Amino acid sequence: MIATKGYAAQAAKADLKPFHFERRDPKDHDVVIDIKFCGVCHSDIHQVRDEWGGSVFPMVPGHEIVGVVARIGPKVTRYKVGDRVGVGCFVDSCRHCECCKKGYEQYCDKGMVQTYNSQYYDGERTMGGYSNVIVVDENYVLRMPDALPMDASAPLLCAGITLYSPLKHWQAGPGKRVGIIGLGGLGHMGVKIGHAMGAEVTVLSQTLKKQADGKRLGADHFLATSDPDTFKSRKNYFDLIINTVAANIDINSYLDLLRMDGTMVVVGVPSEPMPVGAFSLIFGRHRLAGSGIGGVAETQEMLDFCGKHGIVSDIELIKIQQINDAYERVVKSDVRYRFVIDMASL
Ligand code: NAP
Ligand code: ZN
Ligand code: ZN
Repeated sequence: MIATKGYAAQAAKADLKPFHFERRDPKDHDVVIDIKFCGVCHSDIHQVRDEWGGSVFPMVPGHEIVGVVARIGPKVTRYKVGDRVGVGCFVDSCRHCECCKKGYEQYCDKGMVQTYNSQYYDGERTMGGYSNVIVVDENYVLRMPDALPMDASAPLLCAGITLYSPLKHWQAGPGKRVGIIGLGGLGHMGVKIGHAMGAEVTVLSQTLKKQADGKRLGADHFLATSDPDTFKSRKNYFDLIINTVAANIDINSYLDLLRMDGTMVVVGVPSEPMPVGAFSLIFGRHRLAGSGIGGVAETQEMLDFCGKHGIVSDIELIKIQQINDAYERVVKSDVRYRFVIDMASL
């Protein structure tokens, strides 16, 4: 077994504290990764606070992992010692179902094995990236582009792919009007990637406080949702709206901003259901959809796209000892725009 140190929550809503545990020794296809950086996703907070139900403790969160290969199992072919690699939100899937075969492992019929707060099919518990080492099957490991710094590229593994996948699927590009609700970790990646894909991007933020940042990140327009004029001026406007908000918002007023055949994609995960009015869908033949992270191949495609376009996250690098304060700041929408933990501080 591999002695591992990290930070864990021992119970729902408890502060994260130092924690020692063991990882499995590498099996035939496993890669042992020395973790250098790990991003802080709002999903980490939801799960540590058990806001979605079913959380299991102790929990070591973290699914935006970047590091260096330290050791490989005897049958590993894709990676060698010293490679710069990433791990995202899942570390295994059934590999046989329709979704897995099509490369949408995140929608695996059997249920993907999430990077933390989950278990492998044989019962082994998963522990995430707020730790110094992780052991992952090579088929679920990503190659980080050489052109990108390791710290600022960590958030691509969740925030980046979560926006890339729906932007690509719903064909964001020249001539398409894309609205991004919420300029947080996910939202700011949506602005950068949507802009690079050639779409016209509008940020729908609660206030104009982040306006200058939004424009710098690539937004063509920046609107405050606290201003009722926003909803009047953009009625029937967008081809695609991506909702990244972790709290409940009046989704109907946003559905009215879609033009005919426009689609709203939900990626933010509030703990309560969102009431949807039938007329908000009927008029304009609007569609309401959801999207979850991305498959392995698509995540690699996104990393290569970001490497080519020089896209990384805007980050605040923190020490692991600052993690509990960082959580409070994320909840207050006070992060510009992703916290990343420097694992050297562990
Ligand atoms: P985040 O950094 O906290 O960003 C969320 C943004 O939403 C905030 O920055 C804020 O932007 C806006 N917001 C917050 N409270 C709001 C409110 N009450 N009303 C309106 N807007 C509000 O969080 P994140 O890490 O980007 O994650 C966002 C959500 O996506 C979380 O629920 C997370 O669990 C989920 N998620 C889903 C997937 C997936 O695969 N579907 C993947 C990762 C994360 P402004 O200040 O601009 O208003
Ligand atoms: Zn995440
Ligand atoms: Zn499957």
